Amino acid sequence: MAHERAPLRLVPDTAAEPVPSAAVPLLGAVELVPGRIGAAVLSRSGEILARAEATFDAAAGTRDEIDAALARAAGVFAGARPLGVGVAAPGLVDPEAGLVVEVNDAPALSGYPVARRLGELVDAPARVEHRARLQVLGDRWFGPGRGRRTFASVSTGEVLGVGLLFDGEVVAPPGGRSGAHMTVSAHGERCGCGARGCWKTVATTRWLRGAAEQAGLGTGATLAALVAAAPAREAARRVVEEYAGNLALGLVNVQHLFAPGLFVLHGEAREGGETFRELVEQGLRAGLAAPQAEQPRVSVGSGAVDDVALLGGAGLVLSAQ
Ligand SMILES: [Zn+2]
Repeated sequence: MAHERAPLRLVPDTAAEPVPSAAVPLLGAVELVPGRIGAAVLSRSGEILARAEATFDAAAGTRDEIDAALARAAGVFAGARPLGVGVAAPGLVDPEAGLVVEVNDAPALSGYPVARRLGELVDAPARVEHRARLQVLGDRWFGPGRGRRTFASVSTGEVLGVGLLFDGEVVAPPGGRSGAHMTVSAHGERCGCGARGCWKTVATTRWLRGAAEQAGLGTGATLAALVAAAPAREAARRVVEEYAGNLALGLVNVQHLFAPGLFVLHGEAREGGETFRELVEQGLRAGLAAPQAEQPRVSVGSGAVDDVALLGGAGLVLSAQ
């Protein structure tokens, strides 16, 4: 199938401030999600200096429309001369070929050669990786994992998953998954994947809301609200503790296998603040009977929630050096 490229309009949808000239090369990052492309220029220390965003119709958008949106977002790189551009993509990704292989919610993204297209728009090498895998690189270069060769980065909330850096490399075997479907209960609830007792069935927002409702705490409860209510309401305290324990179950398994020693939590867990972090850490340590080479710790991500993917993209550029 031939795809004519749309004329390049290097005008970002959202106006970007001019990027200050820098003696050290800057980093480029792109976040691709169904319907939206974000792009940013970052300093070597992970500070976002300029950003742009362009939208496209996820369900009905054509390849040309995605090309045009990418060109608009990439306008932020004009004049910045980034060292490289790291792309965080959803769905199935082929990093070797620089392709987005398949995205369920955006058919036109399937097979999209995002690395090559960006290489044509920006005079810098572009690489693509799955966003969940990039999160660990963001933490590695700019977050609590700085300077470490082995640790884990954990997405919590609606989406659950673990990214692992092991001896300096992101663990990303073909066909490997993020851990959401590891079995944590032999006779647990049936999961969407068909198996029973997956980690996902007890450690995502869906479980938290259901448990809060069952405990008479109303519908639509959030972790932040439950943590805030916990000192005065026994039912809220129990739900929060159980949720932290469920989250810790998956971390215990990962620690047993890979001994990452540090787990950086992103997403919903951050809303729970220090109280929740401490509960997860206690659960993790309590679940490990054998002495550990390094007493495992739980930390929370430092970047703004929305910027996790962009920081990961910039981390990919640094990792490729
Ligand atoms: Zn499952």
